[in-house]
Amino acid sequence: MKKERGLLIVLSGPSGVGKGTVRKTIFSQNDTNFEYSISVTTRKPREGEVDGVDYFFKSREEFEEMIKHDKLLEWAEYVGNYYGTPIDYVEKTLSEGKDVFLEIEVQGAIQVRKAFAEGLFIFLMPPSLSELKSRIVTRGTETNELIENRMKVAKEEIELMDAYDYVVENDHVELACERIKAIVQAEHCRRERI
Ligand code: 5GP
Repeated sequence: MKKERGLLIVLSGPSGVGKGTVRKTIFSQNDTNFEYSISVTTRKPREGEVDGVDYFFKSREEFEEMIKHDKLLEWAEYVGNYYGTPIDYVEKTLSEGKDVFLEIEVQGAIQVRKAFAEGLFIFLMPPSLSELKSRIVTRGTETNELIENRMKVAKEEIELMDAYDYVVENDHVELACERIKAIVQAEHCRRERI
């Protein structure tokens, strides 16, 4: 078998879909070798959060210095705060042959896709969106304004999904985690064949 660089696994998806919960569950299960890339943020720590464990908590000035000196693989402003992925850790860990796991919002994922086309991009989808999607497909002629608005939002989400390699429904956290782990295993088998 060829020894590859590690795989860059990017878990993303719309706000409120449960990315953080899925990521924490995967890491608490202790049956993968993924290395979690700790993000940098300017948001204040929540109760129980530890600097260097949950995030690297920085001031806006410090964060902007990191942007200026190309220290971030991607970054985004989300609800008034900066979030970003330190590039050195990602590069070093991948070059050691280890898989790196990012859990980031969609704007950041789009940036990573441009820099790391070979990454594995997984879109976590809320079950409500899949319900909406099937409704759009089966009742494409509905004219009700509310439905149209929802279709518009859904279409935007679906367009975003097209940039990803896999879409995983977060109907149950444990099931979503199993699907993600299975996708990563399959991806290794696919990429590492001789
Ligand atoms: P929270 O403040 O709830 O921890 O995170 C808010 C959002 O920021 C979540 O959607 C999370 O996935 C996203 N996020 C966390 N770290 C990063 C990062 O390094 N880059 C980007 N683009 N988003 C991040």
